[in-house]
Amino acid sequence: MPAEPPRHGRVVALQANFCAVELDQPGPGDRRRLLCTRRTRLGKSGQQICVGDRVGVDGIDWPSGRGAVVSLEPRSSLLQRPAVANVSRVVVVASLAEPALDPLQLCRFLATAETTGQPVLAVFSKADLVADAEVEQWCRRLAGWGYEARAISTASGRGLEELRLSLAAAAGIAVLCGPSGVGKSSLLNALCPELGLRVATVSGRLQRGRHTTRHVELFPLAGSQPERAGTAAVLLADTPGFNRPELPPDPAALPALFPELQLLLSSGPCRFRNCRHQGDPGCAAGHDWDRFELYGQCLREVEEAAAAGQSRGRARSAAGDLRRRGDRLEPLLDPRWRRPSRRSSRQQESADAELSPPDPAG
Ligand code: GDP
Ligand code: ZN
Repeated sequence: MPAEPPRHGRVVALQANFCAVELDQPGPGDRRRLLCTRRTRLGKSGQQICVGDRVGVDGIDWPSGRGAVVSLEPRSSLLQRPAVANVSRVVVVASLAEPALDPLQLCRFLATAETTGQPVLAVFSKADLVADAEVEQWCRRLAGWGYEARAISTASGRGLEELRLSLAAAAGIAVLCGPSGVGKSSLLNALCPELGLRVATVSGRLQRGRHTTRHVELFPLAGSQPERAGTAAVLLADTPGFNRPELPPDPAALPALFPELQLLLSSGPCRFRNCRHQGDPGCAAGHDWDRFELYGQCLREVEEAAAAGQSRGRARSAAGDLRRRGDRLEPLLDPRWRRPSRRSSRQQESADAELSPPDPAG
């Protein structure tokens, strides 16, 4: 029998050394999903496969639903922590009550979402718990920050169909992010019937109508067409582990993550090139904008972290045996075991920076 050409599909979940691939075209027995092995190194670059990646699959055994990922298509975007490739929209979820809305936390999530360079949508959940006037006020406020905002309630059903239609209008992968407890799982269940079915079968044991996976997984949006070559479906992912967003390590990267500040600055430059936009004389943004204080809080946080990072760097060269990786300190390899190119502390710092979201301005 002649060898079949590789099939194309999308990685929808990772499990240990395997990944689940949803094929563009169903195979024999109408099989669309395959459990695939993935090579540790793929291609010249040795890239890791992420959820959301478009891949080629070969060596398919249709009866058992097995195959092997043999190629990886170029990515249009990459969300870090958790890694999701080809994200085309970020949905930031904040609850209007229970837990109470925390404007600073909302800003941190919005800024982190901005680092993807993709369109950001704000969703206010649990609209059933507050007065309509408050719902409207928050939506208007977010519009002033430069965001499309929607209010929903999975309890009453309010806004769900409008949100589904809005997400369905643009093909691609949308990720939900926001603090835990705001209703992301409930929203995902409401928007993705496939997940709803799965929850229904396990909820007896878990006694809760939610999925408790710690891994990222993509689910098709209700009513969206399956993916075909050229016509992408709308897929949604929850982002466990994205509960504590990190602002960029470089204070100079912060203004680009505040759309309304960008708009203010587009009218003309500030007097000083390294202006911090804190109401200093000659600042083109001034201080008469809603998020002025919140931006200032984010800025101080980033500046303090940068200063702490620098003093940690000095402590590191004194101690010589620890390096920062994310929020942990790790022992450094003995220099004999390190490649020479990684020795200089400058390069070490840029290696650390790779672990953080990319600077969209760069
Ligand atoms: P997640 O941690 O963001 O995934 O949040 P969950 O979906 O697990 O929801 C957290 C809690 O909020 C659960 O007890 C839900 O029943 C409740 N909840 C979710 N959505 C709503 C809503 O629209 N209205 C109200 N009143 N409660 C909600
Ligand atoms: Zn300024």
